Amino acid sequence: MSLLDHLSAKLAAISAQSLTRKLRRADDGTAPRQTINGRPLLMFCSNDYLGLAAEPAIADAIAEGARRWGGGSGASPLVSGHSAAHEAVTDTLARWYAPHVPEARAIGFCTGYMANLAVVTALGDERTEIFSEQLNHASLIDAARLARAKVTRYPHADLASLRPLLAASTAKVKLIVTDAVFSMDGDLAPLPDLLKLADEFDAWLIVDDAHGFGVLGEKGRGSLEHFGLNSERLILVGTLGKAAGLSGAFVAAHATIVEYLLQAARNFIFSTASPPAIEHALLTSFELIEGPLGAARRANLVARQAQLRDGLLALIDHHPRLGWSLTDSATPIQPLIVGGNAEVMALAAALETAGLRVPGIRPPTVAHGTARLRITLCGTHTEADVDALLTALERAAAAQEQAA
Ligand code: PMP
Repeated sequence: MSLLDHLSAKLAAISAQSLTRKLRRADDGTAPRQTINGRPLLMFCSNDYLGLAAEPAIADAIAEGARRWGGGSGASPLVSGHSAAHEAVTDTLARWYAPHVPEARAIGFCTGYMANLAVVTALGDERTEIFSEQLNHASLIDAARLARAKVTRYPHADLASLRPLLAASTAKVKLIVTDAVFSMDGDLAPLPDLLKLADEFDAWLIVDDAHGFGVLGEKGRGSLEHFGLNSERLILVGTLGKAAGLSGAFVAAHATIVEYLLQAARNFIFSTASPPAIEHALLTSFELIEGPLGAARRANLVARQAQLRDGLLALIDHHPRLGWSLTDSATPIQPLIVGGNAEVMALAAALETAGLRVPGIRPPTVAHGTARLRITLCGTHTEADVDALLTALERAAAAQEQAA
């Protein structure tokens, strides 16, 4: 069988399970509104949680940065790609995390996927055991596969199961690796208790705060600020393509850990540095995140979350036969668990007909039988926007119930 026949058979199998993924082209727009096929859609799917990507100050800063630094960085950071803008970003982040990690220092990456690969593969050597939370993001799972460490998975948020695994480990270095906010469920990892376990068993805690950075904590510094944590055992990964409205990522940790990443993380050493104009604009983004605009957007997110959850609970009550449910989420990620793959895609299609873009998420991204609408809120959504979503969902639910 040729490779093309082999792949065609695999593609047919994906399609038979209603699992084909499709790229949708946005012709213009920024969250929460974009135009697709000439139709304006109200989006509940962007991770641009504060709506910063649309801020004129960000576009101005990119233009200013490009005039000063040009387009790309031209080389990896250790060759010639490291600019004063890159350094100002990591200096700011080191200052932000100083209250949470003694001797904090930060290092930048082009994406969160890269940052996770770097930290887990560089620290996860033969002497190490990685304790990986069951619902971790794909990039952490891939990173653990690539590391030379032993990998042990523990069930979601189940510290009673993690404890004996840590106790039984004979590894010289133990790394507990977890998302802070789970990307498909929206719930928070029990970070204070994980840190206690890390202290008890001399382990280190790698926290992927992709969905907490900018959103959680009074100043938007994420889950460490939210929980008021401080420990040299904390190794924080933050991403800058979501609430920061741009792109990139960072690791903030004790200076010795960061220095080791600089010396040893292959995807830091062998990959072109991010464009300096983006780094320059990140400085503006950081000012917005910690200033009054960021605070107002975070307050609006909390209000819209409450409105959405109340509405979704009422919807589930009206249509018990559909068997829909919510997760235990107190973040802008508010999934509606529907169950079947075909059902969730039909629901997403019905919402799109009503002018709303909400993605259906299916296995293998989530467990079989838990396909869901992944509703995400943006700090610029209005009360009327959330009402529009709830009204369209009520209509779609009534139609699905009739058809069932
Ligand atoms: N970690 C988590 C929890 C994520 O949700 C994502 C992105 N979806 C990443 C890491 C990867 O970040 P990036 O998109 O910057 O590569």
